[in-house]
Amino acid sequence: MSSSYIGRFAPSPTGPLHFGSLLAALASYLDARSQNGQWLVRIENLDPPREDPNAADQILNILDTYQLHWDGEVRYQSQRNQAYLEILNRLKRSNHAFPCGCSRKQLAGQLHNGMCQLPEHLHQSGDYAWRFCVGRGQRSFIDGLQGEYRESLENDIGDFVVKRRDGPWSYQLAVVTDDADQNVTHVVRGIDLIDSTIRQQCLQQALDFPIPHYSHIPVAVESNGQKLSKQNLATALQPDESGNTLWDALLWLRQSPPADLRNSGNEAVLKWAITHWQRQALAGIKENPAPLDFLRHN
Ligand code: GLU
Repeated sequence: MSSSYIGRFAPSPTGPLHFGSLLAALASYLDARSQNGQWLVRIENLDPPREDPNAADQILNILDTYQLHWDGEVRYQSQRNQAYLEILNRLKRSNHAFPCGCSRKQLAGQLHNGMCQLPEHLHQSGDYAWRFCVGRGQRSFIDGLQGEYRESLENDIGDFVVKRRDGPWSYQLAVVTDDADQNVTHVVRGIDLIDSTIRQQCLQQALDFPIPHYSHIPVAVESNGQKLSKQNLATALQPDESGNTLWDALLWLRQSPPADLRNSGNEAVLKWAITHWQRQALAGIKENPAPLDFLRHN
């Protein structure tokens, strides 16, 4: 029986999948599958200089070996230029977006608040960004795991960039466009993105898009308190058919996989995990330890 739930995993291909990104993939997968939902994979390759040309294939191969099978075709944001352009045009027409030639130096660390005048010489050159006009007031949403999250875009973020001066689309514009276009109903991702959510919801509102349900899972931190990331060389995941890495990941996600499920293979571990998934076991948890020896377990 299928349901209307559509979830997704949307990695930026800046490096191979590591344990931290496996957690986001696994949590979003289990949340979708436990509700008979679809699970999509989208490669967010918007910024080639920051990407590794092999990473997208590596990520997909690892997901495949771990038997995290997605529905439909993988979407690549690099092929979505036209769609993003249309969305920007809609924002322009509704006066939600404005061109901005302000340099970093001019902003001098200040937030950008309110429309600015684009200097005449920049009109021709195209050398300017597009920003979204955030308006005033505090906004909040109820996160499925972290409870109420509040933010004043005006005071905390300012008018944010939706198309960069040097060309690329911003993550915020692209993610909102694709989540809507792919009819995503549930977003389960790392808590490091919780402060993007209000920006995304403002865009969704301005564009009359439905607002998905958001849940942010804790980040994995190493014993020195650093977030597990590609930058501090989180170990790339190796293909592992034994189910042990998934079993570790489940434990980390505060599920209670039975000990005898270890070594029983990815398929068996996932089958158990879908049936027993308790998203609420992560409620209110912002950080979880991920000491390297935990990762080196295999
Ligand atoms: N592409 C983003 C990242 O890898 C995640 C996007 C999302 O889940 O909204 O950090």
